Amino acid sequence: MNPARVVVMSRSRRVNPIYKTREWAELRVWAKTFLPWICHVCEEPIAPHLSGRHPRGWTLDHVLPVRTHPHLAYDKSNLKPAHSRCNGIRTATLVADMQRVKTSRRW
Ligand SMILES: [Zn+2]
Repeated sequence: MNPARVVVMSRSRRVNPIYKTREWAELRVWAKTFLPWICHVCEEPIAPHLSGRHPRGWTLDHVLPVRTHPHLAYDKSNLKPAHSRCNGIRTATLVADMQRVKTSRRW
């Protein structure tokens, strides 16, 4: 088997199943209607005409990540709008921080 092919396959992104639920879809509608269209990461406005796939488009971010706080997945107080790009960078940073904490415990 070609080893390069294995690397590509293992890189496929795992989407948390909560993002496929009806509850999450309803929370997104609620957030778009009632929360300000301001990114909580960079504090700049989010343009309503951009899709969530656009780096400056609207996404709904978990302030405390679902990975560490699954019980807050649908908690409105844990949800804030963010640019798609800011959300992605923030998630990557949090994940990196968590991994650093895990590996630096040597007492
Ligand atoms: Zn932003």
